[in-house]
Amino acid sequence: MVSRLVLILGDQLSEDIAALREADRAEDTVVMAEVMDEASYVPHHPRKIAFLFAAMRKFAAHLEGQGWRVRYTRLDDPDNAGSIPGELLRRAEETGATEVLAIEPGEFRLIAALEDCPIPVHLFPDDRFLCSHAEFDQWAEGRKELRMEWFYREMRRKTGLLMAGDKPEGGKWNYDHDNRKPAPDEITFGGPMQFTPDDTVEEVLALVEARFPENFGTLRPFWFATDRTQARQALAHFTAHALPRFGDYQDAMLDGNRFLYHAVISMYLNAGLLGWQEICEAAEAAYTAGDAPLNAVEGFIRQIIGWREYMRGIYFREGPDYTRRNALDHQRKLPGFYWTADTDMRCMARAIEQTRDEAYAHHIQRLMVTGNFALLAGIDPHEVHEWYLAVYADAYEWVEAPNVIGMSQFADGGIVGSKPYVSGGNYINKMSDYCKGCAYEVGEKTGDKACPFNYLYWAFLHRHRDRFGKNPRMAQMYRTWMRMSDEKRQATLDSAEAFLGKLDTGARV
Ligand SMILES: Cc1cc2nc3c(=O)[nH]c(=O)nc-3n(C[C@H](O)[C@H](O)[C@H](O)COP(=O)(O)OP(=O)(O)OC[C@H]3O[C@@H](n4cnc5c(N)ncnc54)[C@H](O)[C@@H]3O)c2cc1C
Ligand code: SF4
Repeated sequence: MVSRLVLILGDQLSEDIAALREADRAEDTVVMAEVMDEASYVPHHPRKIAFLFAAMRKFAAHLEGQGWRVRYTRLDDPDNAGSIPGELLRRAEETGATEVLAIEPGEFRLIAALEDCPIPVHLFPDDRFLCSHAEFDQWAEGRKELRMEWFYREMRRKTGLLMAGDKPEGGKWNYDHDNRKPAPDEITFGGPMQFTPDDTVEEVLALVEARFPENFGTLRPFWFATDRTQARQALAHFTAHALPRFGDYQDAMLDGNRFLYHAVISMYLNAGLLGWQEICEAAEAAYTAGDAPLNAVEGFIRQIIGWREYMRGIYFREGPDYTRRNALDHQRKLPGFYWTADTDMRCMARAIEQTRDEAYAHHIQRLMVTGNFALLAGIDPHEVHEWYLAVYADAYEWVEAPNVIGMSQFADGGIVGSKPYVSGGNYINKMSDYCKGCAYEVGEKTGDKACPFNYLYWAFLHRHRDRFGKNPRMAQMYRTWMRMSDEKRQATLDSAEAFLGKLDTGARV
């Protein structure tokens, strides 16, 4: 029998993947590699690199324990070829293998690299997802609008999660209107489960410190789970202690609490340490046992079988040029403070500091703070996309790009969202405690002291009035804008221009 290589990438750390199912333990060789190409195509957060290398090393050891022959390349291996195709060729020469089995990577960049590899690579579908490409395309075909909500209902029916026969549990598909409570005074959840680094993790931390000293982000204290057992403990901890209140405070933000009632499991799920099914079943079981209310469990399950699967469907349907879309023709450079948190806007400083310290921010911080600002300020969406891809531990293009290019920046022209996610300071003030103590006044609309989100919001609507003026979901806002006096409108536009001028010179804002 001809021997083959089985390629396992850093975000494919699941035992039940098609490439392993197809392979022969006695004949084939698993290839895993820490390569510079993957560690540096954007300046990844050091914690993301450390998490993946540590989890890869442990997964390789686990496979060996299961009887697999594994060739594992460490980053500092002197023979490291530096790229995935290079490593495949090296291992093919060593073993005499003539074919590679792999599952489809989550980035077009890497799919193309494998397709161009001189040794034939057989790519299997990544069936760790609920919805295949074909199924998504079938759902999307002929629809005027690809709204997540309709897709989500299909996924509920398909999985039977929270279904009472063919009806949704509790009579409604979506309990989002219960999930928008502002931040409470006290958070009773102590945060995600933290793990003390063992020898494998310590070794990786030293490597990352030595090789990526300039990357944005704090490496220590490093507390992520790095194997499946730990990831399952983190999931159980969330389900027992945070899920019951996840829904209520899903959109809230608090200066003194970075995680609120969020799961902080996306990095584990996206790397393959957890699967969507076990996560959703654990949440559903909490509801059935009466331990978590329907609004929390439905909201949580929707994120996973709804948003997450939908985003992946969009990425693969739209194709490799998706990350270059720029429907609003935004050209401004990403301000330097995205890498330093050096800004007087307290909400921005807090969200960026937290991103630097944790490689994590929750959805509303990403969408309504850093994303909202970038959109209002007219930042080039590709630069925004590269920032998000670099700074979060859960970021891979298949999920990051539709969230950033589509949902957050409206750069796809309205495929993901029917209207842009923009708001003035009022929304941030309502959902957080950031505005107290900010150098800017959230109640002020124009002038040096006014909250920049306020005038940038109106200037954004004004700038894009031809595109959005007729959108029924935005009509009310345009009416409000047009009801303002000419002087007020002009003062708003002047404040926005002055602020953006300052931003362009690199002055502190
Ligand atoms: C601008 C922007 C960029 C984002 N980039 C990423 C990214 O690179 N990787 C990523 O996994 N998520 C991304 N998201 C989605 C979401 O913010 C994160 O999944 C979530 O914050 C992860 O934290 P958590 O595990 O505590 O999630 P929770 O809030 O507890 O939600 C539970 C799970 O639902 C899933 N989920 C929730 N919302 C989304 C969504 N919009 N898309 C896909 N999955 C979702 C995640 O797997 C998450 O773990 C982005 C959102 C925005 C607005
Ligand atoms: S006042 Fe404006 S800039 Fe300051 S924290 Fe509030 S929303 Fe952010």
